[in-house]
Amino acid sequence: MDGAAAGRYGKQVLFRPIGINGQAKISAATVTIIGLGALGTVSSSHLCRAGVGRLKLVDRDFVEIGNLQRQLLFDEEDALKRLPKAVAASEKLKKTNSEIVIEHEIADVEPRNVEALVAESDLVIDATDNLETRFLINDACLKNEIPWIYTAALGSTGVVMSIVPGQTPCLRCYIDRLPPAGAIASCDTEGVLSMTTAAAASLQCAEALRLLVGLKPTEGMLYFDVWERSFETFYIDRKDDCPACGLGKYEFLDGTAYSFTTVLCGRNAVQIQPPAESEIDLELLADRLQQAGEASYNGFLLSFKAEGYELVLFPNGRAIIRGTTDEAEARNLYARYIGT
Ligand SMILES: [Zn+2]
Repeated sequence: MDGAAAGRYGKQVLFRPIGINGQAKISAATVTIIGLGALGTVSSSHLCRAGVGRLKLVDRDFVEIGNLQRQLLFDEEDALKRLPKAVAASEKLKKTNSEIVIEHEIADVEPRNVEALVAESDLVIDATDNLETRFLINDACLKNEIPWIYTAALGSTGVVMSIVPGQTPCLRCYIDRLPPAGAIASCDTEGVLSMTTAAAASLQCAEALRLLVGLKPTEGMLYFDVWERSFETFYIDRKDDCPACGLGKYEFLDGTAYSFTTVLCGRNAVQIQPPAESEIDLELLADRLQQAGEASYNGFLLSFKAEGYELVLFPNGRAIIRGTTDEAEARNLYARYIGT
């Protein structure tokens, strides 16, 4: 047994489809993981331990106690400190593998920043929780010819599919357009098991290693149910009239199809992204907001409680407004306390 097979990645190197050559490719790769919730905490842990040379972690949210049931990198202390998920995940992963480069970004992925976030990536991991962001990733990855792996979970069911520009159908070949609000089930109404999200993330990362070592993606969209223990794969062909991969219209990336208010799945909360970037002095604002309610600043974000709502504000002006799923009400609260 030589050095590589005996070392940190020994068991993985012994697996023949990877081997020493595959491990070298994995070590040379850059992977961007978008979302560090139930899917992203498991996927980032797998890819970190597998030795992906450079991991870019992106998430917009902070850790809460209700996350711990399924977000396997976080603990009670992270929730108590309300650490941004990108920070908490990056700290844990750096302790797990100091031989790789781990970068993090506290950001909401949206049309203005998605291309910069996926730039230089050999692969993008979708660990988001909504279709709108996935359509945006689809556009950005098609345009920049970056493979990405779509993954979603709900209740006991999950889907996984590799999308390789120019080779496979894209997400919009499968799902033509965004369904109207409230038309699809969400983890708000259906809940989700940690076994579902962990299984989906594991299948996603097996697929990731396949692509990183230079093998073809598996075909079709895998659908599984951990409760019924069933697996099925659906196949379709690329569509010539697909707006994204067929006609080259990136409607989510160019912003024509993209909204800046998002109801957050399972959170009784709405996120507001102001149309123009700003740089807010949160410490100063926290002082000012003390007049109107309970305000605190933890070095990363400002929390403000009033009228039965909580506004959590980030330095670039993005806010998560808890206690409502009404987008207009959330916009109203934002305008009242934060201003535009
Ligand atoms: Zn397509």
